[in-house]
Amino acid sequence: MVKAMRTAPGVGLAAPQIGIPLRIIVLEDTAEYIGYAPKDETKAQDRRPFDLLVIVNPKLKKKSNRTAFFFEGCLSVDGFRAIVERHLDVEVVGLSRDGQPIKVDASGWQARILQHECDHLDGNSLC
Ligand SMILES: [Zn+2]
Repeated sequence: MVKAMRTAPGVGLAAPQIGIPLRIIVLEDTAEYIGYAPKDETKAQDRRPFDLLVIVNPKLKKKSNRTAFFFEGCLSVDGFRAIVERHLDVEVVGLSRDGQPIKVDASGWQARILQHECDHLDGNSLC
């Protein structure tokens, strides 16, 4: 999954997108990727680099009522983007790739990626 995400390249991937019927998401954002986007855009999105996350059985909940609308794309729908409202602050608990419990507190763009990928697991996504 990590290889598929990086090859795409993308900042997140859910297992069902590549035919794996499991509740696993991977995500990663790098200074290099962020550098390709206009600075005012990444600033508005609150987009910052973060290390690779692999989350098994993720459970997401919102941490505040703050939301934002931004264009969002998906590796499963190449070339298509839509405006999606997302929570700005979320918490995700699950298991790491080696089976240890993990908790991710995310805000801004990372929170958006987490919501997008978790939606793929529940079939709620726009993709
Ligand atoms: Zn997607």
